[in-house]
Amino acid sequence: MSNNLKYLEKQVEQLKDDGVYRELPINEGPCDNRISLDGKEVVNLSSNNYLGLATHPEVEQAAIDAVKNYGAGTGSVRTIVGNQAPLEALEILLAKFKREEAVTVFQSGLNCNIGAIQAIVNKGDLIISDELNHASIIDGVRLSRADKAIYKHSDMDNLEEILKERRDDYNNVLIITDGVFSMDGDLAKLPEIVKLAKKYNCLTYVDDAHGSGVLGENGRGTVDHFGLHGQVDFIIGTLSKAIGVIGGYVASKKVVKQWLLHRGRPLLFSTALPPAAIGAIIKSVELLMSSTEYTDKLWDNAKYFKAKLNTLGFDIGHSETPITPVMVGKEDLTMKFSKRLLEEGVFVSAIVFPTVPKGTGRLRCMISAAHTKDDLDFAIDKIQEVGKELGII
Ligand SMILES: *Cc1c(COP(=O)(O)O)cnc(C)c1O
Repeated sequence: MSNNLKYLEKQVEQLKDDGVYRELPINEGPCDNRISLDGKEVVNLSSNNYLGLATHPEVEQAAIDAVKNYGAGTGSVRTIVGNQAPLEALEILLAKFKREEAVTVFQSGLNCNIGAIQAIVNKGDLIISDELNHASIIDGVRLSRADKAIYKHSDMDNLEEILKERRDDYNNVLIITDGVFSMDGDLAKLPEIVKLAKKYNCLTYVDDAHGSGVLGENGRGTVDHFGLHGQVDFIIGTLSKAIGVIGGYVASKKVVKQWLLHRGRPLLFSTALPPAAIGAIIKSVELLMSSTEYTDKLWDNAKYFKAKLNTLGFDIGHSETPITPVMVGKEDLTMKFSKRLLEEGVFVSAIVFPTVPKGTGRLRCMISAAHTKDDLDFAIDKIQEVGKELGII
C-alpha cells in the first residue's frame, strides 16, 4: 500500500475505535419478508420495499418481457438514442398517477435531486432547506450556485423568520423539504409551507421518496395526502422504494420538464435506465393504480407493529408512517442492539451518527406489505427479549 493512504487507514481505525465500523451484509436471495443474510434466514425489517412489489411475479415478468423486446441496456443517454419508447410511456403513466402535468424520470432518487436542484436555481437565488433533509438534497444544494439557508426541523416560525429577513435580497427562493422524513417517519408541514411560499412568493420542492406509494389515494404521495395538487412546484418521487425497482422523478408543470430535458445533467451525461427496470416500474405503478390492496396491507401491518412496541414500553418516536424508529441513544449500544437481533434472526439496521445527530442512535424498523403477522410477531418477541437484555426497556 502506498504510504499516501495512511490518512485513510487512520480514519478507518477511528471508525473501529468508535464502534461504528461495519462490513456489508450479503443478501443471498431476493429482497423479501424473510431473507438469507450471510447464510442465515432472518426476518427483514430493513428494506424500503414497502409494498412487496420488488418480488411481485407480474413485476418480475414485466422486466423479463422488456428485456426480450428492448434489450438489456439503452446504449446511450436520453438525449441521444437512450430515450426508448417504454420510458416515454412510463412518464405519461406517472403523470396520470401523480395527477400532475408532466413527469421527468431520472436514474435514481439521489441523482434526481442532484440534477434537478442545480438546474432550477441559479446565482442570485436562495434555497431554504429543512435541517433534516436527505443527503441527496444536501448534495444537490451544494452543487447549485444559489445561496442556502437551513431552517430548524419543521419549525415554521424559523422558516418565516428567514423569509422575512432574506426574501427581498434574492430573485427566486426555493423552499425544499422531504415529504416524509426518512429517519423519524414524520411528515413535512406541507400546508403551512405552501401557505408561506404563497405569502413570500417562493417556489416549493418536496422530495417524497418515502411518501410515494405509501401516503395518499393509492399511494399517490404526501401532496395528495394533504390535497395540495397543483400547489407544489417540484414533486420528487422514487421508483426504488415502494415501487420496488430503481429510479427517481420530478412531477411538475410541463415547462419544468422541458427545462430539465435540456439542463438536468444526469439526463444529459449518464445513460438512461435499462428496459428491465422500466418494464418492471410500469407494471408496479399499474398494480398500485388498480387496487388499494398493497397500501392497505402496508398500513395494517404498520399499525399492528407500532401498537405492540408501544405497549412494550419502547420509545418509538413520533412517526406518522410505516417507518418505525426504536430510539436507543448511544451509538455503540444501538449497534449492539442490532447485532444481537441479527443473531436472534431479525435484521433491523442501526442508524447512528452521521446519518442522525450524535446521541440519537436508533433501530429503524421498516414495515412492508410483504410481512405476515407471523413475521411481525417473531420480530416483536425478539425486540422485547433483546431490549430487556440490554436494559433498553
Ligand atoms: C431514499 C431517498 C432518496 C434516494 O433515492 P434512491 O432512488 O435510492 O436514489 C432521495 N431522497 C430521499 C428523501 C430518500 O429517502
